[in-house]
Amino acid sequence: MSSNKGTRFYKRTDFKITLWYIVTFVVTTIIIFSFMYVRVKHHLIKEIDRFLKDELREFALKVSETPVDFKGVIKKYEGDIVAREYYPIYVRVLHADGEVIATSGNFAAIVYPINQEKLRGMGVGSSYVETVKVPGRRTPFRVLSFRLADNEKFDYVVQIGTRMKSMRNTLGNFSENIITAIPIALVLGTIGGWLLARRSLSPIAYITEAARRITANNLGERLKSRQSGDELDHLITTLNEMISRLEDSFKRISQFTADVSHELRTPISAMKGEAELLLSKPRPTKEYRRALVTYIKKLDFFTRMINDLILLSKFDSNEAGLKMVRIKLNELLSNLWELFGVLAEQKGIACNLGKIEHADVLGDRTRLQQLFTNIIDNAIKFTPSGGHVDIALQKDGGFAKVSIRDTGIGIPEEASEHIFQRFYRVDKSRTNEIGEMGLGLSICQWIVKAHHGTIEVESALGKGSRFVVSLPLVTGE
Ligand code: ADP
Repeated sequence: MSSNKGTRFYKRTDFKITLWYIVTFVVTTIIIFSFMYVRVKHHLIKEIDRFLKDELREFALKVSETPVDFKGVIKKYEGDIVAREYYPIYVRVLHADGEVIATSGNFAAIVYPINQEKLRGMGVGSSYVETVKVPGRRTPFRVLSFRLADNEKFDYVVQIGTRMKSMRNTLGNFSENIITAIPIALVLGTIGGWLLARRSLSPIAYITEAARRITANNLGERLKSRQSGDELDHLITTLNEMISRLEDSFKRISQFTADVSHELRTPISAMKGEAELLLSKPRPTKEYRRALVTYIKKLDFFTRMINDLILLSKFDSNEAGLKMVRIKLNELLSNLWELFGVLAEQKGIACNLGKIEHADVLGDRTRLQQLFTNIIDNAIKFTPSGGHVDIALQKDGGFAKVSIRDTGIGIPEEASEHIFQRFYRVDKSRTNEIGEMGLGLSICQWIVKAHHGTIEVESALGKGSRFVVSLPLVTGE
């Protein structure tokens, strides 16, 4: 996998997945086999116990025929089963107090201590089975003890046992098979796990390669979705969305840079031409003075533009550092109204403060002042003498709605949706050559967004415009 280039083997995801797979597989196999082993062993012991019970029943039948001649019965019984190889029978008959009455030949050859306590605790007709490890013998024995009594006639304990060789062989076989099967399963499991891990991770190699290929120069490229609808497809979609956002930002940055160069180039070339013309022949001092005053105005304009651009770039990189405090919006608007009143009056415009409700919002004082200053300034700027500008504030559904209405030149319908774009001016010819930058409303829009609010405009050409800013209210103390 090319995405694994330079990744240490043990750090690779396919290796880790395989390892986990093997560990899980081995642990599960061991648990299953151990469980099966215990179950089989339990089943085999149960079978032996059943067999011993059957033998006991047969023996008891023989005893009931001649209850006193145990030795004879045992001999006869031994004779009947002498040919048995896998389940040889061992018989011993004791008095209820533990005294041995008769023993089969093979039983005599093994050491099986008499447990007096257990014998005493046995009721008539009761029995117990136990597995006995006999010294010198590899195979343990299973012995069933049964108290056989018939009223006054007799009261004995019959112990009947067998070797557990067959069970040992079966379990031995079973274990051998397991021991052979586990490595085979392990090898197959490892191969399977490895293939599975590689298969499920192969799209990641594609994603890594494709993502590596995409640089600032080919942000238009997208990763191909596999249409499988799985997590990796979601990852591809998420990456594509991220690339789209990056592409958008890049486009905006290049557009912005191009716009800035364009906006600066034209007035600077004009200034240069004017200066060259001025210097082309000697002129009276008055003319130089006038030119210098104009240059200072233009340089002021450039300074403002640069400040606005710095502010916008700060907004874009989230470095605006807003200081959010509770602000009485009604007071802020009243103060601005007082400030702009003088300016409006000078232009022959009436600036009216309409209905102003009390409304508190959470915001950055400087930025909110800048927001409303821009809008009111535009309203006064684009309203001819004799018109009026009305400011109002009212609360509406959790929002403080500020309305700034003017009776100015208005905005053409097709321009309304563009006026918030950077460097957009409705009609360059209707604004003086260098006074407008077209940045004010884009700054306003950013400020409103940063305050989780909205800004809307309604306008009728030649009749006036109305800007409405809605900001979320803060309630309580
Ligand atoms: P500027 O900083 O040049 O004023 P703005 O971004 O504030 O630019 O405004 C963009 C354009 O929207 C302006 O060039 C102007 O044509 C138009 N505009 C803004 N406010 C008004 C208004 N109240 N009346 C008419 N036109 C307006």
